[in-house]
Amino acid sequence: MASQDKVAFITGANKGIGLETARGLGRLGVAVVIGSRNEANGREAADALRAEGIEKVEAVRFDVTRPEDHQEIARHLKERYGKLDILVNNAGVALDEANFGDPNGVNTTSTVSSDILRRTFETNFFAVVALTQTLLPLIRKSPAGRIVNLSSILGSLALHSDPQSPIYGMKAFAYDASKTALNAFTVHLAHELKGTAIKVNSAHPGWVKTDMGGSAAPMELSEGGKTSVLLATLPDNGPTGGFSHVGEPLP
Ligand code: NDP
Repeated sequence: MASQDKVAFITGANKGIGLETARGLGRLGVAVVIGSRNEANGREAADALRAEGIEKVEAVRFDVTRPEDHQEIARHLKERYGKLDILVNNAGVALDEANFGDPNGVNTTSTVSSDILRRTFETNFFAVVALTQTLLPLIRKSPAGRIVNLSSILGSLALHSDPQSPIYGMKAFAYDASKTALNAFTVHLAHELKGTAIKVNSAHPGWVKTDMGGSAAPMELSEGGKTSVLLATLPDNGPTGGFSHVGEPLP
């Protein structure tokens, strides 16, 4: 299927990696629906893409934690496009971000509050599962459905257990565990959808300069959408149920 015939919905696409993903897919001719919990921010992002010559773009007000928004986007996509080719579950929060590189940070594993754990999982995990379930009937209507879950190497239990790994000893437990759960969702859903045209993969975009990634991140924002665009446009014989690290091919 030509990129020009595809439609993508990207959550949290008003800024950061989500907006870069929208930009990358828009440049390929994919019709892009930008989800933004703040309506004005979404509109601004869509206007910016249009000003760059990306014409097939629209913004919808969308909060991943609101079930009514899930129903509304399903209705909208069905009415306007009749299908969904690409779902990028990008919106995410890092409420215990202060612990990323700080072994003495607050909310370590032994002290993290249930409130932080719950709110982190609500956005990074429960919302992804619920939204994907709601949109799956529309994704099944695509001849080449692609689901991309924005994960992180911080969700890798193997790396957390490897003393040689750069993330060894990091303690953002709520964030990390939410991404581990997300990776489990990727693998299980991919198994369930084997034999269909749908591919489901997790992405580690790299450590990217965004509001979440911070200014010390080595990757420029302009590089930040590459992994998710790669997974969103995998060929029909491409992998499913995998994890792509900074655009590296999946195992
Ligand atoms: P940003 O903080 O720059 O952007 C996060 C986006 O998610 C924003 O658009 C934000 O909206 C949105 N969002 C948060 N909560 C909700 C919600 N309830 N409903 C709708 N949208 C919401 O982060 P990044 O661009 O850096 O991160 C994007 C994804 O990539 C995340 O899943 C993150 O975990 C992952 N990632 C990022 C890395 C990095 O180095 N930056 C590394 C590895 C993974 P708003 O503007 O309204 O706050």
